[in-house]
Amino acid sequence: MPDGSEVDNCQHVTLGCCTNLADFYSRVGASAKIRFYDRLYFADAQGQRSTIEAAPLPPPLHMAPSFLLFRALKLDDKRCIANAMLAIARSGGNPPRIEGISMLDWLHRMKQTPAAVERFWRVVLVSALDEELARTDARYGIEVFWKAFLGNSTGYRVGIPTVPLADLYEGCREAIVRQGGDVRLRCGISKIHVAGNRFTGAVMDDGTEVHADACVCAVPHDVLLDMLPPECSETNAPLEGLRHLKTSPITGVHLWYDRPVMTEPFLTLLDHTTQWVFNKTLLYKPDETNHDGVRPSEVQVATVEGGGQYLQLVISASYDLIPRSRQEIIEMCRRELADVLPLTREAQLRKATVIKEVNATFSPEPGSDQWRPSQRIDLPNLYVCGDWTRTGWPATMEGAVRSGYLAAEALLADRGEPRTFLQPDLPFEGLCKFWAGRNNGVRS
Ligand SMILES: Cc1cc2nc3c(=O)[nH]c(=O)nc-3n(C[C@H](O)[C@H](O)[C@H](O)COP(=O)(O)OP(=O)(O)OC[C@H]3O[C@@H](n4cnc5c(N)ncnc54)[C@H](O)[C@@H]3O)c2cc1C
Repeated sequence: MPDGSEVDNCQHVTLGCCTNLADFYSRVGASAKIRFYDRLYFADAQGQRSTIEAAPLPPPLHMAPSFLLFRALKLDDKRCIANAMLAIARSGGNPPRIEGISMLDWLHRMKQTPAAVERFWRVVLVSALDEELARTDARYGIEVFWKAFLGNSTGYRVGIPTVPLADLYEGCREAIVRQGGDVRLRCGISKIHVAGNRFTGAVMDDGTEVHADACVCAVPHDVLLDMLPPECSETNAPLEGLRHLKTSPITGVHLWYDRPVMTEPFLTLLDHTTQWVFNKTLLYKPDETNHDGVRPSEVQVATVEGGGQYLQLVISASYDLIPRSRQEIIEMCRRELADVLPLTREAQLRKATVIKEVNATFSPEPGSDQWRPSQRIDLPNLYVCGDWTRTGWPATMEGAVRSGYLAAEALLADRGEPRTFLQPDLPFEGLCKFWAGRNNGVRS
């Protein structure tokens, strides 16, 4: 920020079903810095609120009571959503004939109403997968619902850091050093040398070269392509597919108001360009008052120094915003907030900033999984990891951790010291356990 303060590029959240990320947080001492919320808050264009939370019923019925009470959807919308959810659950997350089709195609096949698509499926999936439904592989979209909302009663819980991202990950360095490692910051790698089909060294930006028995490359996929010799990514080479992976943008909008304008910890917006609003002041509040299970109207109003409030807005797959000016985006967000947070109409905006991440994540386009390499490529001592490698997960922190664990497992196995790091998914419960067992391993 021009005033010297630092902000995260964008709010990052985890879900209860992200078991490997939870394991990673416990390894680096970050678990206590994540607060989980059992209730999800939604606001429609008129500002009317709905919530989703689990009832003490076996999956997939645990969401049914709050779904039935969800005010932003009509009975017809709910009936067709329930049918599609049942199709996912009864197939154990593997509905037939979804190979290579988009999520939108599958929703049309499942005869979803326009309101169900716009006010339900799109709302959940565009922010979870950072892509529009027409450009999302149906398999990724279906997995989100199967793992987070259907299979287990805690998979949907939203975990939000109570600290900025830099503080969340400060334990990483210590964990590496404890194991005898060395961490060097702000020194990029410009080239990776390969000779005789083996990794031989990496050249840093200052020209020095580092050598090692093996290398795990954890950089973004487009950066990796520039580092490696061209023969690694040309036709039929191990990383050829990366040239086909596209990226999609996320825009974060940070607004500092002069007074409290929001009581919920976070809010998902329907019928707006803005998708999520995070009440950063409340989320960073160290005391216990904003624990979940408290009705929004009862949540204590949290303020920053001087009595103001800091909100962070997230817009995923924000293609339309990339060419627009920052001021235009801020004005649009203020207009949208006036619909759902009326107190913003009178409040003064003290400060605002927009952070556009143009290549935020890889785009989960239909068929994109075929372009994702495994962590072990054809060079025996060179491994790759990153959310873009083949993990079965979309571009998420969970996918990134899984890729790191898989790369570590591959490297150690090749050295004759096999170990397992990958954590199992949450266990399926209730009827979903039966359906998952019945369909185990069946892929259309
Ligand atoms: C705006 C935004 C919001 C997001 N929100 C969420 C969310 O809410 N939940 C979620 O699960 N995921 C979210 N994601 C996705 C998540 O951040 C990624 O999936 C995850 O960080 C990927 O981890 P990674 O290790 O694969 O790559 P990265 O985190 O991108 O790490 C790659 C690293 O390589 C380094 N690097 C780059 N070039 C070089 C070089 N030449 N030499 C050396 N190092 C280099 C980079 O500095 C970086 O540290 C979000 C992403 C963005 C951009």
